[in-house]
Amino acid sequence: MNAYVYGYGRRGAERLILVDLGVAFADMESTPGVDLIFPDMRWLIDNRERLEAIFLTHGHEDHLGALGHFWSRLRVPVYARPFTSLLARGKLSEQGQPESAVHSVDPRPAVVPAGPFQVSFVPIPHSIPESSALLMETPAGRVVHSGDFKLDPAPVIGPPFDAELWGAIGKQGVHALLCDSTNSFSPHPGRSEASIIPAIDRLVQDAAQRVVATTFASNVARVATLARAGQKAGRSVCLMGRAMQRMIAVARQSGVLQDFPETIRADQAARTPREHLMLIVTGSQGERRAASAQLANGTYNGIDLQAGDLFLFSSKTIPGNEKSVIQITNQLSRLGVDVVDDTTDGYHVSGHANRPDLRRMHDLLNPAMVLPMHGEHRHLRAHAALAQQGGRTSLIATNGSVVDITEDVPQVVETVPSGRVYLDGKVHIGALDGVVRDRLRMAMGGHVVVSVLLDEAQNFLEDLWVETMGLAEPVGAPLDAYLTRALTEFLQEPGRNDLGDGQKLERKLRRQVRERCFQAIGKKPQVAVVVSYLG
Ligand SMILES: [Zn+2]
Ligand SMILES: [Zn+2]
Repeated sequence: MNAYVYGYGRRGAERLILVDLGVAFADMESTPGVDLIFPDMRWLIDNRERLEAIFLTHGHEDHLGALGHFWSRLRVPVYARPFTSLLARGKLSEQGQPESAVHSVDPRPAVVPAGPFQVSFVPIPHSIPESSALLMETPAGRVVHSGDFKLDPAPVIGPPFDAELWGAIGKQGVHALLCDSTNSFSPHPGRSEASIIPAIDRLVQDAAQRVVATTFASNVARVATLARAGQKAGRSVCLMGRAMQRMIAVARQSGVLQDFPETIRADQAARTPREHLMLIVTGSQGERRAASAQLANGTYNGIDLQAGDLFLFSSKTIPGNEKSVIQITNQLSRLGVDVVDDTTDGYHVSGHANRPDLRRMHDLLNPAMVLPMHGEHRHLRAHAALAQQGGRTSLIATNGSVVDITEDVPQVVETVPSGRVYLDGKVHIGALDGVVRDRLRMAMGGHVVVSVLLDEAQNFLEDLWVETMGLAEPVGAPLDAYLTRALTEFLQEPGRNDLGDGQKLERKLRRQVRERCFQAIGKKPQVAVVVSYLG
């Protein structure tokens, strides 16, 4: 959920720009039922009259996925390069926002003025077309925001990493570098996107039956490598999954993708002999509704995988998605399909700069300070240490930190509200609002509803109703009948004088239910008690 705010001006009255506005994805374990996770944008929304513009470094969801959901509350121009612009316009129109807010910008030397900032897009390789670093010039000095990047000499799509260009920017003086930290632990220089072409070609060439490959739809270079491997092996290529088709269409429309092999439709693929077919599909992370999962499940679009077919994961499994991916691998295994995954290095490379590459970037730009971004805390910490070893100042800015970078030593001067906001159905909820906490508790412990009726004299009318959900039945008796009996006895205990205080009674009954359930089945469910008084 990237969202970086830069400010220039008098303290507290700085003019601001926002770089990226991304999402994170929910999971069953910690955020069941949640649709998307946004950064908490409260502070920027409260200060939006100071905001000049939004700049998008590239088209990954963690950098632009929230644009459509927050633009109406920020209402400033959005700048991005052409391919990213097309994706950003899609994000706005999906949420009923005007696509005209997005302005397509050429890379440096084109400059976008935004208040006191002069911003230019500097091309840099990554795992999506047209990724860019931002060069921000201010009266107080120049700042480089790296975006996500790698130093790829042969990225398959787009220009290679241009060390001369970056060296020249460094020579003109860079005050601060905010830098991708994703791979700060990887000790060896990163491998090029083109380096895996021979291995993929060979794998597809040697395959006897159908070949299915999956990768991130947005990794257009990889999709091109896979499609070309199919073409070279004399196979017809079919793209499956909406995200895959859409991304390739956008890449063609924006002109970043040329020489992509002709593709066939799914119905044509179903009629193509197995040994002449190459499918490139969505769902590299085991997403339940994506093409990979559907194919692993059985027939999809008229295609059923069979023994001897080959399934290639040309992707890395993102931590947290292992279970889903393994589930698909096992399903494919049961069908007799040969699965090749990321346990070998031959068919995937990362889109982020490794440790030696980060050091090289520091040295080329030669900034006074390096602020690590984009990574878990441990990655930021390793990156900060690397910068300090190179004689630069650094600081780990956690979410919400306001860092003064005016001098050569960065300093946290303020903390603003930050955190996570969930899109839950149609509603934005705070991560700490308790909605998901209750949902998790219900998922863990089940749910019991109790309704009690009392007359105006506060006599229990023996009208008690219990309903249980998501709970096992104790041996020999239904749980609701057991609870009804137990609560009736409780309410009829001699000397009860607490039936008039509804709230207190609800609390007591809730505790009773939890204790009784624990005795009977070893679970403490979520309990809702409704006490009603006649008259
Ligand atoms: Zn990213
Ligand atoms: Zn990225």
